[in-house]
Amino acid sequence: MSEKIRVLVPEEKVDERIRELGRQISEDYAGKQVHLICVLKGGVFFMCELAKRITVPVSMDFMCVGSYGDGTASSGVVRIAKDLDESIENKEVLIVEDIIDSGNTLYYLIDVLKKRNPASMRLCTLLDKPDRRVKDVKVDYCGFEIPDEFVVGYGLDYAQKYRNLPYIGVVEGLE
Ligand code: 5GP
Repeated sequence: MSEKIRVLVPEEKVDERIRELGRQISEDYAGKQVHLICVLKGGVFFMCELAKRITVPVSMDFMCVGSYGDGTASSGVVRIAKDLDESIENKEVLIVEDIIDSGNTLYYLIDVLKKRNPASMRLCTLLDKPDRRVKDVKVDYCGFEIPDEFVVGYGLDYAQKYRNLPYIGVVEGLE
């Protein structure tokens, strides 16, 4: 069966929600500079849109942490494929992630980054699948809670495809 994409969250809803998150983050970090850490590759579309909606000063850095291969099943192995370029010591860190599923990736990442002594550390995710959680991860800002389905778009891929979709969709017809 060939793959088809069913729209789960339309483009207008994603854009509207990112504006709301931007407003909320701007209020919460009033008078401060927020240091966004984008978790590559999936988080990059979300971070760019979110950063444009934040009105306090913003700096940003990128990290690549992998736990997935080309399919839909977790390998269970978390590894740093690309570390941050700059120190996060004494910075107000906001991790920006595309989706939290089991929580394994973020649990590991938060542990690693906390040891680098940021002034504060919070987590912002576009999507959350709470039903799938294995590790307890505190989410400070969440775009949408979604059911246990494999989603693509807005940075999320299936075998490196569909990242450029401007909405969140479900891949149908997967084996
Ligand atoms: P976790 O460690 O929380 O299980 O997984 C986090 C990572 O798994 C995400 O950053 C993302 O790369 C991938 N992932 C989890 N669920 C999905 C999904 O529904 N679609 C896509 N494309 N990736 C997912």
